[in-house]
Amino acid sequence: MKDSNDKLSEQEKVGSASDLANFASALLNPSAAWMNDGLCAHSDSEAFFPDKGVLSDEAAFICGECPVKEICFQYAMTNGIEYGVWGGVSERERNRLRRAV
Ligand code: SF4
Repeated sequence: MKDSNDKLSEQEKVGSASDLANFASALLNPSAAWMNDGLCAHSDSEAFFPDKGVLSDEAAFICGECPVKEICFQYAMTNGIEYGVWGGVSERERNRLRRAV
């Protein structure tokens, strides 16, 4: 029998897969052409999709130098993307911001 922690992990995995699918779909969307200018397109993708939902030093540094940082953050907030680092903001930080609004 699974406990509540197992159930939460399964929910998180479903959300993760969904967000990754949204990310892949967005890459193919002409209105999201700004993604081609994102520095993460040429970086280790694991740094931007960390297991624990926190911002890694590597992702923070790369996002800090990224020319599309602001639009990336707005895209994630507007589209309710829960998983991954967007605009230099971790999923935990975005969730905190959503709750504060
Ligand atoms: S701000 Fe960060 S996550 Fe967004 S496109 Fe740039 S490097 Fe990628």
